[in-house]
Amino acid sequence: MNYNITVIGGGIVGLATALQLVRKNPALKIALLEKENVVAKHQTGNNSGVIHSGIYYKPGSLKATNCIRGYNLLIDFCREQNVPFELCGKIIVATDENEIPLLENIYKRGIENGLTNLKKLGESELKEYEPHVAGVEGLFVPQTGIVDYRLVAEAYQRILNEAGVQIFFQSKATAILEKNGKQEVVTPSQTFISDLVISCAGLYSDKVAGMNVLDMNIKIVPFRGEYYKLKKEKEYLVKNLIYPVPDPNFPFLGVHFTRMAKGGVEAGPNAVLAFKREGYKKTDVNLSEFFETLAWPGFRKVAGKYWRTGLGEMYRSFSKAAFTKALQKLIPEIQKEDLTDGGAGVRAQACDRTGGLVDDFLIYETSKAIHVCNAPSPAATSSLAIGETVAEMAKKRLS
Ligand SMILES: Cc1cc2nc3c(=O)[nH]c(=O)nc-3n(C[C@H](O)[C@H](O)[C@H](O)COP(=O)(O)OP(=O)(O)OC[C@H]3O[C@@H](n4cnc5c(N)ncnc54)[C@H](O)[C@@H]3O)c2cc1C
Repeated sequence: MNYNITVIGGGIVGLATALQLVRKNPALKIALLEKENVVAKHQTGNNSGVIHSGIYYKPGSLKATNCIRGYNLLIDFCREQNVPFELCGKIIVATDENEIPLLENIYKRGIENGLTNLKKLGESELKEYEPHVAGVEGLFVPQTGIVDYRLVAEAYQRILNEAGVQIFFQSKATAILEKNGKQEVVTPSQTFISDLVISCAGLYSDKVAGMNVLDMNIKIVPFRGEYYKLKKEKEYLVKNLIYPVPDPNFPFLGVHFTRMAKGGVEAGPNAVLAFKREGYKKTDVNLSEFFETLAWPGFRKVAGKYWRTGLGEMYRSFSKAAFTKALQKLIPEIQKEDLTDGGAGVRAQACDRTGGLVDDFLIYETSKAIHVCNAPSPAATSSLAIGETVAEMAKKRLS
């Protein structure tokens, strides 16, 4: 079990990283370890399926640069590999006058981030794009698209198999040891020895990085995002993608409507604290993980700051009527009866010690390891760019 590189995590970021490593150097011997029996079982396979344009992110941040680069790489990849996608555009809707300055800021950010053909919409123009929407002003973002990220991840996996990268399923990394200048990644069944370890472990990225980074100053806080689906006969209410103006203090975009690449229209996701990292149901609880979250000083500060927003999200999680009310801000015609349960995803959001929800992508490095520790949305859009960045870091270490 000797390799040049061991990659931990078979989500879209780990797969894209392995892909960019072999593209740079086909001679590399790479092992990719995934604890489940398929790729994309967690965040990658349970997301909104949006190809983000990069409009929201702080100019110059890793999110902004990797999103825009990743967007172009992803579109080229989907074209080459025949993965279905559609660039249908989206509208962001200000539902009251107070949101207009925030919408203007998003417009300016989009321009700074290099987006072209953004279109400001008045009340009546909004209806030309989405006849059932209600709002005072809006913004059309033509670049936004939709794709099924599970299919993208499976296409990455196919290419990795062809390139000779070995993917080991049901291989949970439980320890990373340094021995004789090599890195040993221990799993219950075998040990993988390599010159470099790269981890992209999503909801467990802090745990895996913590196996060889001593002073981890972040903790992953899991936020479940629950969806409803529009009943088939109500899908006419949404043509493409309809987003609210997001709360700039919060890292999530607010409940929105998304026409899915695989068919159907989803409404959501909300953002509720999950009591288990891979807790997809409200009843899923892992006491040790939950108490670990509560004990993290940064989380207690976040809870102190955002308790009102958090309680609102929790209430909407338990009350379909309240969830519907949030959706009615965008489409007043929507009724509770138009919605059926649509599943959930859990976001891995890094929280630092001082109570900051880490906004940007975050990568930790040691002399023999690279750990992707915060890769929230738009990391699916950006996966090939993040992979490229990590592969470049790896190249410097191995040369
Ligand atoms: C509800 C929701 C909606 C989103 N919407 C969008 C969107 O529309 N567009 C967008 O661009 N992004 C979106 N995102 C974000 C995007 O899905 C994630 O940023 C992206 O999938 C992260 O990929 P990943 O590979 O880092 O993590 P994951 O997909 O979670 O993969 C990590 C993998 O590591 C494995 N693993 C963990 N620990 C170990 C271990 N010890 N040993 C071996 N394997 C391990 C896990 O089993 C998992 O398969 C959304 C996320 C959520 C949750």
